[in-house]
Amino acid sequence: MENTNELTLIFDSRPANEGLARVAVAAFCTQLNPTLEEVADLKTAISEAVTNCIIHAYEGSVKKIRLECRLKGKELSVDVIDYGTGIEDVKKAMEPLYTTKPEKDRSGMGFTFMEAFMDEVTVESQVGKGTTVHMKKIIGR
Ligand code: ATP
Ligand code: MG
Repeated sequence: MENTNELTLIFDSRPANEGLARVAVAAFCTQLNPTLEEVADLKTAISEAVTNCIIHAYEGSVKKIRLECRLKGKELSVDVIDYGTGIEDVKKAMEPLYTTKPEKDRSGMGFTFMEAFMDEVTVESQVGKGTTVHMKKIIGR
């Protein structure tokens, strides 16, 4: 069996913790000797997912966000989990430029960036229960 390594982080949905989440994931994957570009890509994807929990899932109220990171060989997988509003139509939410908060200066590009910077992005969501964003990336190809 390949070596695996796991990290779980649970933190409050405060904007200040977005930086913490990105740095934690970046630090966790240093054991795979990522390039600067890979680290930058990861950080962007994590930021987008965590920001979505803060502004969409919890709409500014302070609740918990769960971040699960797993390394398996060269593959990093990250799950960003919230217990907030959920998403009614995931397919639509993931379309470029789709946003439910245009008045808040959102551009609707968060999921598009996640998909551009990670190898795989899948979303599971239940209205009123919450959302899990699964992302995977091979580090150091
Ligand atoms: P941007 O990320 O460019 O600032 P955005 O957040 O609206 O804008 P996306 O990140 O692509 O764009 O998300 C698209 C839409 O999906 C959001 O407008 C929101 O309706 C919904 N959404 C995304 N993540 C969540 C979440 N964790 N919980 C509830 N709804 C979400
Ligand atoms: Mg977003």
